[in-house]
Amino acid sequence: MILVTGGAGFIGSNFVLDWLSQDDEPVINLDKLTYAGNINNLANINKDPRHIFIQGDIGDTALVAALLAQYKPRAIVHFAAESHVDRSIHGPAAFIETNINGTFGLLEAVRAHWTNLPAAEKSAFRFLHVSTDEVYGTLSADDAPFTETSAYAPNSPYSASKAASDHLVRSYHHTYGLPTLTTNCSNNYGPYHFPEKLIPLIITNARAGKPLPIYGDGQQVRDWLYVSDHCTAIRRVLVAGKPGEVYNIGGWNEKANLDVVHVLCDILDTLDPKSDGSYRDQITYVTDRPGHDRRYAIDARKIERELGWKPAETFETGIRKTVQWYLDNQPWVSDVQSGAYLKWVEKNYSQRQVGEE
Ligand code: NAD
Repeated sequence: MILVTGGAGFIGSNFVLDWLSQDDEPVINLDKLTYAGNINNLANINKDPRHIFIQGDIGDTALVAALLAQYKPRAIVHFAAESHVDRSIHGPAAFIETNINGTFGLLEAVRAHWTNLPAAEKSAFRFLHVSTDEVYGTLSADDAPFTETSAYAPNSPYSASKAASDHLVRSYHHTYGLPTLTTNCSNNYGPYHFPEKLIPLIITNARAGKPLPIYGDGQQVRDWLYVSDHCTAIRRVLVAGKPGEVYNIGGWNEKANLDVVHVLCDILDTLDPKSDGSYRDQITYVTDRPGHDRRYAIDARKIERELGWKPAETFETGIRKTVQWYLDNQPWVSDVQSGAYLKWVEKNYSQRQVGEE
């Protein structure tokens, strides 16, 4: 049994689906279902007895303690976070609350549980903290990509809150010996990505005939990784990562935002029956995001060398699959856009509570 936090979000739901497609080991999925949590992402495993969904807050130490006592997971994979940089600029409080205080509450509950485990279970236990390359700040064009020893220099309230959570996790290993693993990954894309983020926003706006907003000059560089490759890397770190270590995850796919938008328009022009071949005409330049980082790039050699992980998708194959997924899953997109997904849990989910068998 493993406990996943944030397993109704973009990466977490891909991870849970991927896990259960490969493994019989059950998953407890603890998610608060904020606006970013969409239980609809997990519709295919709604009735699967290996998936136990609990709606709750990672900062609720009593709840987490009860889950740990009841289910005795051998590992925690911690995805839950407020994750959108723009939202962190307009309202940082939620980011401090979940990413810092919530991670602290989770760590405290896990530490109390872990301390009392028998020796063999104690050393086999893992707390895997999922984090971002944004904690390292920004690079200029000729800087080398971020390694695991790059200095932290977070520039947004989002990245600062994730940096704080990384430091807390690190300290729980160094101070208490909790067997932690931290992964810092580059930008993900793929199925179930909430359409406030660049790639799904461009796909959905293009098809709706809306402007395709480009911040500033569109030359901000991001390093893209297809989400299933991130999930594979996390599984690999869970199996073979060394406690206390940090692993950077990335696909060596640096692209300027404007180039990503051009690629999306061109793929949509070929795959989308609604297209008349002119999606690029919808591109609109908008005022740049304050404090916008210019370039992120991940040096993934440590995870490749030490754990033998490599991404399966190139940017070209992954982005085509992603566009096709959005074309094939219009009901999912409409539900998210109308807000209907927020009601889905009440209507459709047979939610179990702590204490029920
Ligand atoms: P997301 O916003 O899509 O999902 C976050 C999930 O966490 C949601 O289901 C939400 O309901 C849940 N959640 C939020 N606050 C909670 C709380 N207090 N208690 C319990 N659940 C809560 O995020 P994502 O893009 O899937 O990112 C997942 C993790 O991966 C985050 O920690 C993020 O920092 C990290 N990350 C993301 C990317 C990326 O490109 N998206 C890249 C690297 C790392």
